[in-house]
Amino acid sequence: MQKIESEKQTLTRMIKIYCRKKHRSKVLCDDCQALLDYSLNRLDHCRYGESKGFCNHCTTHCYSKVKREEIQKIMRFCGPRMICYDPIMAIKHLFRLKSN
Ligand code: SF4
Ligand SMILES: [Zn+2]
Repeated sequence: MQKIESEKQTLTRMIKIYCRKKHRSKVLCDDCQALLDYSLNRLDHCRYGESKGFCNHCTTHCYSKVKREEIQKIMRFCGPRMICYDPIMAIKHLFRLKSN
């Protein structure tokens, strides 16, 4: 699978986990949906395209400060939990981290 598409799937999965756990919402709440839409749009318009590195390590930081902090909070929360919810995706995520 292409890198951007794979990151979109990981992001979507993580935000869903976060919303379910933190906001007790079965479907994405409005705030999480807005953050997901924003993040997917960033990925669609990433200036590096398929050669992009991991957003966390990016020097461009195309996210607004507020959105970047929100997404980092979700990553910190979901990172350790991903291994339970979606081991395959978590392992891919780890490999991506190591290769970047
Ligand atoms: S933070 Fe960097 S790598 Fe991530 S989408 Fe924005 S420009 Fe691309
Ligand atoms: Zn939510």
